[in-house]
Amino acid sequence: MRVCRYNGDRLGVALVEEGVVADVTGALEVLPVVRWPPAPGDQLVRELPAVREAIERLLPVAPRVALDAVELQSPVANPSKVIGAPLNYARHQQEVGEQVAIHANTHASRFDGFATPIDKLGLFLKAGTSLVGPSAGVRLAQTGRRTDHEVELAVVIGRQAADVAPQDALGLVAGYCIGLDMTVRGPEGRSFRKSPDSYTVLGPWLVTADEVPNPDALAISLHVGDELRQRASTADLIVDVRELIALASRWYTLYPGDVILTGTPEGVGPVRAGDVMTAELEGVGLMRVPVT
Ligand code: MN
Repeated sequence: MRVCRYNGDRLGVALVEEGVVADVTGALEVLPVVRWPPAPGDQLVRELPAVREAIERLLPVAPRVALDAVELQSPVANPSKVIGAPLNYARHQQEVGEQVAIHANTHASRFDGFATPIDKLGLFLKAGTSLVGPSAGVRLAQTGRRTDHEVELAVVIGRQAADVAPQDALGLVAGYCIGLDMTVRGPEGRSFRKSPDSYTVLGPWLVTADEVPNPDALAISLHVGDELRQRASTADLIVDVRELIALASRWYTLYPGDVILTGTPEGVGPVRAGDVMTAELEGVGLMRVPVT
């Protein structure tokens, strides 16, 4: 099921073949009323099994609106954290190593005997306030500095967990999205440069995990205008989805709605105001994201 949030927090199911969104906002009635303090994480993702049952009941008679006429928001409203994976495709690691002047702080060519870049660098965190949906688009921060696109498979965690074994990790996943991990280039730390408002784009909807049996073999691409910039497969991930979830869960308790950006393949490059990025992920869909 492709669950979307659109037009000012309406809940929809994207029926892509029909080119429509079914309005199932009424399913939100099953969410419990929350009093202070709310539990960490995203309430909709936490209650997704019950919400989904309600959606199934409403769907046959739900009003339809044209998919290309709706404003798509981030399918996750309130993640407790957005976790990023650095240098997780070999050919991206290579391009970073070759562009030291741009990727100044990454020490990409030196891993000092660690098995993978992530074994050395660990994961990183982005501010939750950087999160937007595709329709809002990316608003360039620090004009005069270079902002790069990074297209990624985004994993949305479905329930609270810690110290998860890799073989159990996919069982925690609520679903998958396309993620854009936008980045200001420069010498500062990753979380600083990757956390301006709108620098995490999530969309176009959440595809529930039952529809993506193997997240480690998905074609992924990004165009800027008509120009193909990035094209790869998640089969090329150095640390795969199971291992990323397990690693993150050894350091942080994971909560419903937490997002893991799994890393970007080669072809990272700059965007400018007026550009439109088109990001595509097999099994998930396509989203167009304007840059202003
Ligand atoms: Mn990234």
